[in-house]
Amino acid sequence: MKLPIKVRLTAWYLMLLSVILVVFGVFLVLRLRSDLIDAVDQSLESRAAQIALGYQGGDQNFQDVSDASLQSVTPAETAAQRLTPTGIVLDATGDPALTDKPLIDAQGLAAALQGRRTVASVVLGPDGEHFRVLALSLPQAGRSSVLVVASSLEDVDSSIHRLVVLFATGIPVALLLAALGGWLIARKALRPVSRMTAEAEEIRADRLKDRIAIPATDDEIERLARTLNDMLGRLEEGVESQRRFVADASHDMRTPLTVMASEIDVGLETHRLGEKGARELLASNREQVEWMARMIDDLLTLASIEGGQLELLRGPTDLQGLAGDVVARLESLAAANGVRISANGRPASVIGDADRLTQVLANLVENAVKYAGAGTEVCVSTWQRDREAGFIVSDTGPGIPPEAVPHLFDRFFRVDATRSSARQGSGLGLAICREIVGAHGGRIWVDSSIGGGSSFSVALPRS
Ligand code: ADP
Repeated sequence: MKLPIKVRLTAWYLMLLSVILVVFGVFLVLRLRSDLIDAVDQSLESRAAQIALGYQGGDQNFQDVSDASLQSVTPAETAAQRLTPTGIVLDATGDPALTDKPLIDAQGLAAALQGRRTVASVVLGPDGEHFRVLALSLPQAGRSSVLVVASSLEDVDSSIHRLVVLFATGIPVALLLAALGGWLIARKALRPVSRMTAEAEEIRADRLKDRIAIPATDDEIERLARTLNDMLGRLEEGVESQRRFVADASHDMRTPLTVMASEIDVGLETHRLGEKGARELLASNREQVEWMARMIDDLLTLASIEGGQLELLRGPTDLQGLAGDVVARLESLAAANGVRISANGRPASVIGDADRLTQVLANLVENAVKYAGAGTEVCVSTWQRDREAGFIVSDTGPGIPPEAVPHLFDRFFRVDATRSSARQGSGLGLAICREIVGAHGGRIWVDSSIGGGSSFSVALPRS
């Protein structure tokens, strides 16, 4: 089971803090111990130097002539000896239990005799007390001897012990307080997240207008809330557009069905319909059925494009060739509408889906032929520049009102719905064109003015 982020954060923080405190504590103890031992060594040095000074004049009574402070310490804590090169105790001062035997081993003695100053930590006496000893040879005429001074490390050990006890009790208490503080801070920092989670859980498809309250924290949490709200906005837009789409599609599908139903009703009420009447009725019904079939095809195409299922079979595509084919195919339709149609322009090639681009071209040319009206001209021209190539379908028809231009590529939009539906338009053609061109990474736009005709342009990236 994953622990809550508050607990995990606190645990990580605590673990890191314990490591830091323990490492710091160990360093402090070791450092203090070494400093204290250095101080003891220094006092041993000066004591040994003073004793050695007393022996410079010749053999005299051995005494520890340490400074006043050392004089005042108990004998168990300091000791001094003079040893023969073989390790026999000549003179001694301090606790007899310590000084009746040499304070250093044979190795230390030999080193001191060779003139090397020897400092070592040793365990002495029946209680196994820690001492620091210093040995040096006494330069005396005739006989050489070794002076050994020792000082107990009891004070050092007890200081270190006190410090360790202090750390051992202080660190857990500090960690406990830090854990509590860390947990409170993490809880406070994450409280807006819990609130946002609760608010987000309440938002369902029927409440997409709701938004999460944005905390004025000016940090990642505020950004997260804003991002979630933006996402909700986009979702709301998407759902609203789907709802409109379904409503518009149902409405548009009802129109031919209503027409068919009323024509059939009239037919049923007429006692003797006659062959001519029956044919007319069936022909009209067939037209409505064709319209519905076309609309369903368009809807399916749009749905697959918007669902990201439009697979473009890209390949080198000659736009000039496509324009020629489309014009040839629609020439009879244009003639039937009294429209003159032509193709011209420069060679233009792109990497694209030839079938889908033909669909766009055919749609634009069909529209021009449909809406321009008899006696007009429709021209398809192709062009090519450095990075782009495309085509323009222009007509000399009545043009499009400026207020309609921004909506022209919207689904189900028709400039004059009644007139257009009479001409069997679904209002999906330009929306499909926009999606196909968009899938190619291109642009589609229109230039039109009332009475000045319209020209629909498509620009596609060449690679
Ligand atoms: P449809 O042609 O099925 O109605 P489209 O999406 O192809 O749907 O076109 C949307 C609307 O744009 C049309 O209903 C028509 O009013 C207008 N339109 C399109 N092309 C032209 C044109 N060449 N001249 C005038 N109006 C046009």
